[in-house]
Amino acid sequence: MRDFIYDTLPIRVVFGPGQVSQIAVEAARLGLGRVLVLSTPGQRALGQRVTHLLGARAVGFHAYAKMHVPIEVGAAAVGEARTLKADGAVAVGGGSAIGLGKIIARDLGLPLLAVPTTYSGSEMTAIWGQTEAGVKTTARDPKVLPRTVIYDPELTMALPRATSATSGMNAVAHAVEALYAADANPITSIMAEQSIAALAQSLPRIVADPNNIGARGDALYGAWLAGVALGAVGMALHHKLCHTLGGAFNLPHAEVHTVILPHAAAYNAAAAPEAMARIAAALGTSDAPQGLFDLARRLGAPTSLAALGLKDTDLDHAADLAIANPYANPAVVTRAGICGLLDDAYHGRRPAEA
Ligand code: NAD
Repeated sequence: MRDFIYDTLPIRVVFGPGQVSQIAVEAARLGLGRVLVLSTPGQRALGQRVTHLLGARAVGFHAYAKMHVPIEVGAAAVGEARTLKADGAVAVGGGSAIGLGKIIARDLGLPLLAVPTTYSGSEMTAIWGQTEAGVKTTARDPKVLPRTVIYDPELTMALPRATSATSGMNAVAHAVEALYAADANPITSIMAEQSIAALAQSLPRIVADPNNIGARGDALYGAWLAGVALGAVGMALHHKLCHTLGGAFNLPHAEVHTVILPHAAAYNAAAAPEAMARIAAALGTSDAPQGLFDLARRLGAPTSLAALGLKDTDLDHAADLAIANPYANPAVVTRAGICGLLDDAYHGRRPAEA
């Protein structure tokens, strides 16, 4: 057993079908009586439902969350929370709504309660992100950590097949990188392994039948574990690349994760054999990179950067950006290596056996 440090994050988790009905009880438990509810425009109906469930404890509903939190979107929500004299925020939806809640928590120091409806995992991390002039900044701040998270699988039933698949692969990516993180610890590794197994088993069942509540619950459980791992240990090449590609070329977040993951795993396979063995076992396959590629393909998710609209003439610039700032990664990151990875991802080639 090697030495490790593990900071557990103090988040209360309420899990189960129908548990959103407890939102007012949970807000009261945090002493909140003037809550601002947040969602994206697409999740307005759900946001209204949650606002209604909060009754007199809700003072407003703001349905203007946007992916990657453009700085003006964050400022508008902070302004509204100030005007309403809100004493807390409730974010309902995916990483975009939760990301907006984090900006309110960061700027006003208000407690955040999250009701996630995708598998992004943001609700389990103290990482905030915002975008200014197309450049995304992320940082850690304990203030932005949600105090309470309600995971209600019923709220994910309407998540379309395609979004379920890519959002699920986004969660798998957190777990994969947690297994080879420089600061991995035995507990997050167990969670990461469990997460991959739960998602690999449940996502195909969801794509076959999006109304399968059992599979929805298993996927949300897997996403929770992936989020814990993401919040506890440092991410590497895969997250760095996705961050770069998403920001510079405006590619969709979860889809980029889905396409890059098998290739990032292949890049790191020789340098992280123990992690690969655990990933492969959790996937129920003999080869981790191929197993990740096959899972995405089985889910009908995109498997090439070309399918996401990237142009092959962008690859050189993407490689430059990806190697601009050094970061921890099991395999040495070289420009030639990244070019090869991006070329494979661009064409959607199945990785060679590790
Ligand atoms: P998202 O929140 O934009 O949701 C994706 C899509 O799913 C949207 O169109 C949304 O309307 C739809 N949707 C959400 N819930 C639904 C439901 N129940 N039914 C039907 N449709 C639903 O995207 P996301 O992938 O959840 O999150 C991505 C964002 O979160 C990015 O900005 C990313 O950077 C951020 N993120 C942050 C962290 C962190 O730790 N800070 C972690 C992961 C992701």
